[in-house]
Amino acid sequence: MVKITVIGSSSIDLVVKAHKRPSQGETILGESFKTVPGGKGANQAVAAARLGAEVYMVGCVGDDAFGESILENFKKNDVNTSYMEMIKNIESGTAHITLADGDNSIIVIKGANDYVTPNSIKKALDIIQESDIVLIQQEIPPETVKYVCEVCCQFGVPLILNPAPARKICKEIIEKASYITPNELETSILFEEIDLHAVLLAYPNKLFITEGEKGVRFHDGEREIVVPTFNVTAIDTTGAGDTFNAAFAVALAENKTYEESVRFANRAASLSVTKFGAQGGMPTRREVEDSM
Ligand code: ADP
Repeated sequence: MVKITVIGSSSIDLVVKAHKRPSQGETILGESFKTVPGGKGANQAVAAARLGAEVYMVGCVGDDAFGESILENFKKNDVNTSYMEMIKNIESGTAHITLADGDNSIIVIKGANDYVTPNSIKKALDIIQESDIVLIQQEIPPETVKYVCEVCCQFGVPLILNPAPARKICKEIIEKASYITPNELETSILFEEIDLHAVLLAYPNKLFITEGEKGVRFHDGEREIVVPTFNVTAIDTTGAGDTFNAAFAVALAENKTYEESVRFANRAASLSVTKFGAQGGMPTRREVEDSM
């Protein structure tokens, strides 16, 4: 079993469905309400655990009911929570989602996710050092991402930086991360005004750009490669990137080649889009292997 540490956000999505969006000052009756676990860090941890890895989550929740249910969800999915912290008098991270008029609008409250600081990382150095690979995203403070890059570099532990949500990052972080996995929008923000092919060439076997239903593009040092994804009927693409990153981490930790790892991750991510919800659609190891 490979050991993976995921450092990042965890939250609860509060999803309201209504026939329309209320205008300013208006109160309306909605159609339904549900709460679902989310946050990119938590999603990636759950996805990696379903794919058979031993997963440790490093993050923070608030001391509210949502915090309890975030931790419960990790336990239900076999994610180790020994390195999760509960922050006193702080609310858990939440995303307030309204589905109306055929589209969604979202307000994110970072809450306890803002408390995932370099200090939290210092308490998890032992598990980071023992890990086969570390996975991080950008829903936690930038200084934490920078610190994790430095620590992993120092320990010689491979690090996948999934630069989502899109935000500019300094060159030093790009240089220090072992792998960077932006989608197309994130790529355009990270490497603005530089030719895509030149960027891929500059970061061979490091920059893996996910291109949705087209698959994944990278450069292996000799040529640019596009690994096509699998043809599926997409129902809900929420969490596709999270499933991709988790599966990519699992495959790399198992010493699969880059192309094999991307193919495995494409298979897992393509299966995830055939079901509703981010975590709801994440496949098990068996489901991925049976369909390769
Ligand atoms: P994000 O979800 O972060 O925006 P992408 O849209 O690039 O990222 O999706 C990540 C990966 O998920 C893709 O590289 C691909 O493997 C898989 N994927 C996403 N959408 C589809 C789709 N419609 N059909 C098959 N695979 C998909």
